[in-house]
Amino acid sequence: MKIYYDSIEGDKLDVNAAFSFEEDDELIDIESFSGTLFKTGKIYLLRGVMEFKLNCACDRCAEPAVIKLRHTVEVGIEPGGNANAVDIEYEMTDDDGDTYTTAPDYLDTTEILRQEAVLQLPLKRLCRQDCQGENIKKYYEEPDNALKGLSSLKQKT
Ligand SMILES: [Zn+2]
Repeated sequence: MKIYYDSIEGDKLDVNAAFSFEEDDELIDIESFSGTLFKTGKIYLLRGVMEFKLNCACDRCAEPAVIKLRHTVEVGIEPGGNANAVDIEYEMTDDDGDTYTTAPDYLDTTEILRQEAVLQLPLKRLCRQDCQGENIKKYYEEPDNALKGLSSLKQKT
């Protein structure tokens, strides 16, 4: 969503978003972002909570996996091409926070949230924490083994 800087009345604006996009053939659903854009001098601060889902393949068993993620976004936003921007004193409250430089007249929340989501994607993609991978899956796909597995379960109970 494009927000033109000169359309912002007062010193803050509620920002809500939900959209999907593809990154490296994986579908990322931004289920919700709920936050506020604050105006602090010439620099803006976007803060809010993003709930999103990564649709990928499990690293161990290769089955489709959906990984739910939640990230608190806190980024500085600086309109580009503004000679006075360097005079503004500005400190991020989060040392790891990013600052985005935008077009001089508008910011695109979709672009910023997209980048924030991609930065949070896990390196290890598992369908579940204890996924044992392909070998275990193949073992239980054999009808005999599956039955053995079942009967050993029954004995335990
Ligand atoms: Zn798996």
